[in-house]
Amino acid sequence: DVTATKGTDFEDFYLRRELLMGIFEAGFEKPSPVQEEAIPIALMGRDIIARAKNGTGKTAAFIIPMLEKIDTSVDSIQALILVPTRELALQTANVCKTLGKHINGLKVMSSFGGTSLKDDIMRLNDPIHVIVATPGRVLDLASRNIADFSKCPFFIMDEADKLLSREFTKTIEDLLVFFPKDRQIMLFSATFPLAVKSFMDKHLTKPYEINLMDELTLEGISQFYAFVEEKEKLHCLNTLFSKLQINQCIIFCNSANRVELLARKLTELGFSTFYLHAKMPQQDRNRVFHDFRNGNARNLVCSDLFTRGIDIQAVNVVINFDFPKTAETYLHRIGRSGRFGHRGLAIDLISWSDRFNLYKIEQELATEIRPIPPQIDKSLY
Ligand code: ADP
Ligand code: MG
Repeated sequence: DVTATKGTDFEDFYLRRELLMGIFEAGFEKPSPVQEEAIPIALMGRDIIARAKNGTGKTAAFIIPMLEKIDTSVDSIQALILVPTRELALQTANVCKTLGKHINGLKVMSSFGGTSLKDDIMRLNDPIHVIVATPGRVLDLASRNIADFSKCPFFIMDEADKLLSREFTKTIEDLLVFFPKDRQIMLFSATFPLAVKSFMDKHLTKPYEINLMDELTLEGISQFYAFVEEKEKLHCLNTLFSKLQINQCIIFCNSANRVELLARKLTELGFSTFYLHAKMPQQDRNRVFHDFRNGNARNLVCSDLFTRGIDIQAVNVVINFDFPKTAETYLHRIGRSGRFGHRGLAIDLISWSDRFNLYKIEQELATEIRPIPPQIDKSLY
């Protein structure tokens, strides 16, 4: 569902009335999640890198704030929307026209290769506020002084990863020269390959990153293992508790029985501990999860049903008391979704029989799990 949101309404963005009318007439009732995040940030004038799946409303996420800022009493180009194909140029120009239908005097133009340059020159004789175009054609217009971008504040790229593939990058960098220094750059796409990063570092100013891909990443998480015999595990955990600066901690076991046993031991030892496993009634699970999220216990011992819970911001340490059997389970226990830049610590207690599995999982996830050092730098988590 495009519009499953936290309950924000389009009215909450304080958009002008003419724009709101266009939005509602287009049949949009509530902003989609990417719109909910991108619109207020874009209105503040910040550069944006937004990643969200196909069909989640990225187009309106950049068109709405752009239209809000267009001043139709001024006869200059105020926004460029770059797209990789002519079909997308036409479609995107249509969305601009639909959403901007009630904005008096708004002029939107699409422009792409394979049509006569003369036609574009004719059309640019009249005032144009928004150009939706493919890179080659628009560079042509800019370098021949047919289109003036020197006062154009918006530089938007849709399907940005395609636009920044080797084929187009040079064209786009050449084009940027025609824009003012303080232009606002917004990149939207479903994928951002690493190749795009050098462009972002070079041309964007403190970009706000939106990532709605639900994809788990191990980035920013320091992973360590310790070889521990089964009967030494509890003692080891005790030592970790005393050495680490734990905010909240999740401890994984491989069975419901072991979850209950460990939780009982930890409680006996005086550690504030909750537990969760698949054999508990759903209602109890919800309550425990809710209480843990509220910070009512320091530790949560659980089995693998508790996968996405690691998004709890306060959890800075995850311990695999029992090492998982598969890379997927490991990723679900340790990985985090959403924004880049979370830090955290993952510690695996490895029994002798787990050692091959450790190596295999490390390989499969192309990650690094190192032997635990005597001291772990607090800045890592
Ligand atoms: P994306 O670029 O992320 O693949 P689009 O911008 O093409 O997605 O939008 C997908 C569809 O969702 C379009 O038909 C669009 O009209 C519709 N849509 C976008 N935003 C909303 C909204 N807030 N409410 C209802 N429908 C929306
Ligand atoms: Mg799109």
